[in-house]
This record gives sequence, C-alpha cells and structure tokens, in this order.
Amino acid sequence: MRVTSLRDGYVDMPVRRLRQPGDKPFGADLPSRVPLFDGALRLSVNAFAIDDGREITLIDTGSSNAWHPTMGFLPQALSEARIAIDRIRTVAFTHTHLDHIHGLILPDGRDGFPQLSRLLVPRPELDMFRAVARLQRFHDRAQPFGAGQRLSTDIETIAIPGHEVGHTCFRVASGGETLLIWGDTVHVPSLQFDRPEIAWEFDADQAQARASRLRILGLAADNGHFVAGAHLDSPGVGRVHRTETGFRFEPL
Ligand SMILES: [Zn+2]
Repeated sequence: MRVTSLRDGYVDMPVRRLRQPGDKPFGADLPSRVPLFDGALRLSVNAFAIDDGREITLIDTGSSNAWHPTMGFLPQALSEARIAIDRIRTVAFTHTHLDHIHGLILPDGRDGFPQLSRLLVPRPELDMFRAVARLQRFHDRAQPFGAGQRLSTDIETIAIPGHEVGHTCFRVASGGETLLIWGDTVHVPSLQFDRPEIAWEFDADQAQARASRLRILGLAADNGHFVAGAHLDSPGVGRVHRTETGFRFEPL
C-alpha cells in the first residue's frame, strides 16, 4: 500500500481563529513559537491518496476554485505524484467544510475524478453536503458512512466529532503499520500538539473537538501510529509522542 500526501495549497487565517478554553482568543499572549505570515496563521491544505495496488481512495479533495486562490492545486499535485485521476474510484471526506469537498469539480466545471464510483460522506453531514449548490450533481451520488465502518479491507472509520458533527478519522492499516488520517484534528501544529486544549473558531463544538483531539493524539502516541493531517505543514505525515504536559509531533 502506498499513501501519497497531496498539497492543495494553503490558507492564511487570522490569529483570532485560535481559541483558548472558554472561547477566548489570543492577543499579545500568543506564544512566539507560532510563525506568522503578515500577521496571519498559515495552514497547509492537504489531501491523501491511498493506493492499495488495485484502486485509489482519495481522502478529501481540496477546495478547487471555491475559496481563496492560494488553494485548488490538487490536480497539479496528483500529476506531480504521477497519479492518474482515472484510478481514483473512491472519494471519502473527513468532513464537509469547503476546503475538503470542492475538488470534486474542477474550476472549469468538469468532474475532478471521471471514474468516481463511490462518494462517501459522514452520515451526520449528508444534509450539509447536499446543501452545497456548487456540488449539486453529486448530491444524489453521496453515500453516507458511519463510525467504525470498514471502507475496504485496510481502511476503517473512527468518529472524532467536534470540529464538525461528522468529523472522521480514517484508520489505514497495512504491513503491521497504522496511519491515522485525521482531517482537522490540528489546525496549527506549532501550538496544538503542545497545547491540545487550544481550539479553533470554526469548530462546531470546541469542547467536543478538544476531547476528540486528546483521544486521537493519545491513540497515536500510545500505539506508535503514524498520523496524516489536512492542515499539518505539508506533507503533514509523522508520529506523535507524549510530553510532560501535552504532545510533540515528529514529522516523517
Ligand atoms: Zn479544513
């Protein structure tokens, strides 16, 4: 099995998106280790292709031309990785926020993945997906999946609700190793491994997101699993270790 990290681009976000417990934004108390670009946080936007030798499952699709022009480079990333789009038969979403779903349709209106036969959406977010007008022609094709569901012999879902109601981690196991493709568990890696209590303004439920983050960080650290994150600095794959007070990310 081969997993490829694909960089759709990046998005710059104001520091106020970071939330301390109690929904309190940072001001001058933002730790200096958090890098800023013109005063903004820079989040990489990544998708992941899982190739089991027969077909490719794509986890998330980037944002195409539906958000900032610093994103939408998934097609170039696929071509750089020499992944033929015709081999992508399954697309599964970690959740239905716009930087994860809009790559289904290219900026010119064509389908991003012409041979798509399975489009998997977290069941609690099926209605949210079907409310996205730009993706109307995919509304009826979307199949819901639930927690603890096996998508193939090697891929299983883990519910990590909070960032969004159906937020999902994909557990990929092969050859004795495990990778957790965990979506938006961490938005700002320079801060949230060390201080996993810090939440994100766009979390649908910050307290629940915090609890899910702690659970999946612990799972990864205690079992030596690899993790792959949609907003970890590209390529966004590595291991997690416990520290005295929190966690530490070791990039691959
Ligand atoms: Zn996201």
